[in-house]
Amino acid sequence: MDAIVMYPLPVIGHLKSTVELAKLILNNLPSLSIHIIVFKPPYDDGLNAPFINKVSGTIPSIIFHYLPTITLPASFISSIRTPETLTFEEVLLLNNPNLHQALASISENCTIVAFIADFFCYAALSVTAKFNIPTYEFFTSGAACLSLMLYLPTIHKNTTKSLKDMDMDTLFDNIPGMPPVPVKDMPKLLHERDSKIYQYLLDASIQCPRSAGIIINTFEPLEPRAVKAMTDGIAAPDGPLLSLPPLYCIGPLIVSDNRGGNIGGGGEPECLAWLDMQPSQSVVFLCFGSLGRFSVEQLKETAVGLERSGERFLWVVKNPLSEEKPDTGLNLILPEGFLDRTKERGFVLESWAPQVEILNHDSVSGFVTHCGWNSVLEAVCAGVPMLAWPLYAEQRCNRILLVEEMKIALPMAESEDGFVSSAEVEKRIRELMNSEEGNSVRKQIMAMKNEAKKAVSEGGSSSVVLSKLVQSWKLN
Ligand code: UDP
Repeated sequence: MDAIVMYPLPVIGHLKSTVELAKLILNNLPSLSIHIIVFKPPYDDGLNAPFINKVSGTIPSIIFHYLPTITLPASFISSIRTPETLTFEEVLLLNNPNLHQALASISENCTIVAFIADFFCYAALSVTAKFNIPTYEFFTSGAACLSLMLYLPTIHKNTTKSLKDMDMDTLFDNIPGMPPVPVKDMPKLLHERDSKIYQYLLDASIQCPRSAGIIINTFEPLEPRAVKAMTDGIAAPDGPLLSLPPLYCIGPLIVSDNRGGNIGGGGEPECLAWLDMQPSQSVVFLCFGSLGRFSVEQLKETAVGLERSGERFLWVVKNPLSEEKPDTGLNLILPEGFLDRTKERGFVLESWAPQVEILNHDSVSGFVTHCGWNSVLEAVCAGVPMLAWPLYAEQRCNRILLVEEMKIALPMAESEDGFVSSAEVEKRIRELMNSEEGNSVRKQIMAMKNEAKKAVSEGGSSSVVLSKLVQSWKLN
């Protein structure tokens, strides 16, 4: 039997798009089996297992393989504290022997026609080379961010200091297909050039062009400039343009049903029932991904801004950051009397929210987001304009893209230490829900929603590219 093997980064945002890609491939090639190899992440938020169980229970052609748990160096474990410092490089490298074992065992019963590694799991390439399996990379974020990553070797060569030691307002204004990016908005993992994760990502950027192809969770009309820039070739540190292997923009890959009953649980039907009772296009939805957490101070400040905005809201509040008042009720975390005063027009949810259903609900008309790429694509597909409040990973770059390039979001501005004032929250939410600027981004995202639909319909750019990809695999 022919098989495809996939190797995602085991965090929910990456796992979900990997499974969606697997489903798409199976739609085109139903006789295949898809094997997804999962290693134990160093930081387990408890979201993966229920998701994997659900997929295994409903799609028999998708088979998950767990790699054995490895012992991590104590220094590595103690350094993992927040999503911002969450790194994987050591875990991936240590897992290569287990990956080798897993591939050997899958190949006993199947012919592996292709291996699809998450961009961040490029360490697998040295293993798949031994099996001679064509290896593709999957970039779960957008094309412009991929372009930035592929340009990293040039940035590395042209700079001598770590980003953290540069003036935070210095602009990188020649990243192909990207508007200028100030140092402060570059992904934090790239800020320290002597760190292991920086070295790992630099290597990932150098290795990626050597893969058989790069699959990107985007669609060409959303990022035409970045796609063209990469197709034309990326600047290489030592000379002529670096030509890339085929790029496959097959998105938007989003989960059509992510009701939290499977992940996280609790609270979901109530918030949807509450939305049913709100007027059409009246609610702003605030949700910050699977890892987004705020300090108690920031939660209080946000509540004040929300209350003053006078808008209806559905707000997902997860446990506050760090050890500050863990497991205290919302009443103690939020300003005194806030829940009571806003109960007619606000709903605060403490658990996993059914985000896709919420974004597609007729009452929802604005989305305050951390700019995680899945959330961005989900907002595009629902046609809901965004207020961009990035927190970690490549999200600050996404804010620049959403605001300046795609014009489908308004920016939330933070102070130097990342704090967002209640006045800013109030002003921007009003702007998003009720102003010329808000209307303009709303119009633009509706146009993008149509483009997304076209891209995945028969003959659309993403469908055509997907057919090319699956046809390139040599099936038995
Ligand atoms: N999500 C959700 N409910 C929540 C939080 C997140 O359904 O309460 C989903 C969201 O719809 C998206 C994914 O989790 O599909 C988060 O992925 P994204 O890339 O936006 O952010 P990440 O969590 O990876 O930072």
